[in-house]
Amino acid sequence: MLRTFSKVSHVGFSIDELRDLMRMVEGFGYKPLLKEARDFLWKSAGIPEAAIADEYPSRRDISVDYMEAMCGELYVDGNSIAVLSAEGGFFSEHDFESLTVSFMSIDDCEIHAKFTKFSEAVLECARRVLKKRDEELSSLQWADRSSHEEADEEGNDEEEQFGRAVLESAYVVGAQAIAKSKLQKLLIEISQAGFARARDLLSRRRSGGAYKDALVQFSEAGVVRTDQVIECKANGSPLCRIDNQSEAIPDSVLNLVCVGCNRSYRSENFTEGYALTELGKKLVVKSHWLTVWATDQLVTLGIPLDVIKWNVHDGSEEVDIILDYYGKKWIFELKDKEFGGGDAHALNYRQVRYQADKAIIFTTEKISADAKKIFSEVSKQRLDDDKSVFVFVEGIENFPAVMGREFSVAAYDVMKKRVTDVGGGVGFKLAPIIEAKYEAYIIKQAP
Ligand SMILES: [Zn+2]
Repeated sequence: MLRTFSKVSHVGFSIDELRDLMRMVEGFGYKPLLKEARDFLWKSAGIPEAAIADEYPSRRDISVDYMEAMCGELYVDGNSIAVLSAEGGFFSEHDFESLTVSFMSIDDCEIHAKFTKFSEAVLECARRVLKKRDEELSSLQWADRSSHEEADEEGNDEEEQFGRAVLESAYVVGAQAIAKSKLQKLLIEISQAGFARARDLLSRRRSGGAYKDALVQFSEAGVVRTDQVIECKANGSPLCRIDNQSEAIPDSVLNLVCVGCNRSYRSENFTEGYALTELGKKLVVKSHWLTVWATDQLVTLGIPLDVIKWNVHDGSEEVDIILDYYGKKWIFELKDKEFGGGDAHALNYRQVRYQADKAIIFTTEKISADAKKIFSEVSKQRLDDDKSVFVFVEGIENFPAVMGREFSVAAYDVMKKRVTDVGGGVGFKLAPIIEAKYEAYIIKQAP
């Protein structure tokens, strides 16, 4: 998938300092695309090398078209593009008042390491440049450049409703086992019964083997507990249940006598049954496992956990997950059953209420034809003509691919805007470079 990272440092620079900084970054092995393109232009125009040397960026490169100054450089290496840019400064004592590094790459498992290497190199260069200035450099550090600032401006309404997502490993392991099994109904059955004997769970079903496997997986993941049961040999009624499979049954229990058949418990039938563990109960209630599982997937897809929020408002049918990333707001409605027409109207309302750029409908089953029709009609009525506000994910197995595509497109948009801004600042039309390098990948990912 295509991913983008950005970090910003709010520190003032003059154009001369920025030029020094860029020259040092080059020393770290990053080949400057714009500088080389510019050198090529000047040489082709017959301007002697001496006049070109070290001139980029110059005061001429600070855009006058933009309300705020913007200057930067691109570094291209295979499938990845690194961008260094300096912005702002109209009302500050410096030419620029912030420095941003961005990085984009496709299907690159080392992307984060590469981005860190680049951002550390730039920071080191900035340190060296500003050292000459002899002032306190506490502001010289990277902060995430995401939509945090925008998110903070949101109303309190949302803050009450949502809390930070939490991923504890036991919960993730449990949720993964439930997601993988496709026998979530079995858990609901155990949950409703409180306790279910193995025989009762398995006998009624033709696919007993699959159920047995699922129960083993649920047990291993800590969702389901196996209990020992003593049953009357004569009438099959349960006499006693020991909470834990491994626990030895004390003599005081074994010596009891059954009122049904007069045998001691020791001589009765020993069998097994299943109950939900505390973890299992927490995961099954309101299908919390689906929230945990989806969140874990989002993190796997590169979304930082701290931008993912869960609905913590009790008993509400509202949006389950909300996240701000790539300058967009995404809301998720999760269902472990069919998503129907009534759900569609409600979600449409919430999408408007939360001003979400994207509303993801994620169901373990299907989205009804009814609901799809409603979304299609709603989208047609939209003035902005954005038909892709509603995103359908039907079936657990499709979540990674659909969301991977969504985030790839969002990352692509972010980087295209970034590069366009830098290009606008220095007089190059750069968006076509991003399009030429990455658009085919984005199109290939389309459903
Ligand atoms: Zn008995």
